[in-house]
Amino acid sequence: MKTKGITKENFEKLFAALASKGFRVVAPVKVHDLVTFQEVKDASGVWLEEINTKKSIKEFFFPATECILRYRWSEDGTMVRDVAPSAPETVIIGARPCDASSLPVMDALFTWDYNDAFYLRRRRNTTVVSIACNRADEYCFCTSVGGGPHNLSGSDVMLSATDSGYLVEVVTEKGEEMLAAAPELFSDSAGKPKPYADVPAKFDLEKVKPWLEKNFDSPLWEEISYKCLQCGVCTYLCPTCHCFDIQDEAHRTGGIRVKNWDGCQFALFTKHTSGHNPRPTQAARWRQRVQHKFNYYVERFGTVSCVGCGRCIRHCPVDMNITDHLRRIAEAK
Ligand code: SF4
Ligand code: SF4
Repeated sequence: MKTKGITKENFEKLFAALASKGFRVVAPVKVHDLVTFQEVKDASGVWLEEINTKKSIKEFFFPATECILRYRWSEDGTMVRDVAPSAPETVIIGARPCDASSLPVMDALFTWDYNDAFYLRRRRNTTVVSIACNRADEYCFCTSVGGGPHNLSGSDVMLSATDSGYLVEVVTEKGEEMLAAAPELFSDSAGKPKPYADVPAKFDLEKVKPWLEKNFDSPLWEEISYKCLQCGVCTYLCPTCHCFDIQDEAHRTGGIRVKNWDGCQFALFTKHTSGHNPRPTQAARWRQRVQHKFNYYVERFGTVSCVGCGRCIRHCPVDMNITDHLRRIAEAK
């Protein structure tokens, strides 16, 4: 793998240099106390000090809502018009390795029984420049699910902080092309990376799936889900949660078909038109979340659909903690 270096001064110039070449540049920006990814024109306002952003990079590949077709009807019949996905050439700078590693997890889903043109075009047109973690908090658990503070999965370029700037690891061809857009900013030498964050393992992943396979009806589901409010924050902030709903918004002469995020923690998510709900309790819905991520997804795609970013714990209003649940599962007889 090719490695380069970039000084702090040149890194600040990189944002404007890429924007001037026509890229949409996206980076973490702090507005009051909220740090989220936004389009930037230069380095002013970019905030890379947060352990992780509140929202993940998911919405730049799979937006919370998007129109997927338009239709009109008249006496002559119905006319359907496909909508081209909006997918500008984008460079995301400042993703954490956990967020980047959510992309291969999502790729498996969006190319499974159907190639989702909307997701795939954005994925193709987006370069991900990650920054390795030198700090973690008590909610991070990437190392428990196969990741790590310098895990390269899903990144096109990985930056590691040094005393004078960053060590630049060029992971993919897309990463190579990004460097080629501003070659004058990179040098052949880089300092030594600062120590990566220490993220202790919180549970034994190997023991989770075997228990889940045998305990669909365990009393544990009810016990651990009592306090859940069904707010859905955990699903919306999760970089790998991908459930959506398709709705028609129609008027007298036509309408649009819209793909919207949905979430397994909402009672309405599985409610049938008949009124029957196959997941009638929060215990059933929380069981689905854990079973899907740590059992069914592994069965279908060979990987867990959790990257250990900790957002579902950090931002849950009632302190639900999936690592406590997974530890109890891993330690259960
Ligand atoms: S964020 Fe917490 S309270 Fe809200 S649905 Fe998820 S687990 Fe339940
Ligand atoms: S389940 Fe929680 S920790 Fe795992 S990827 Fe989703 S938000 Fe992050």
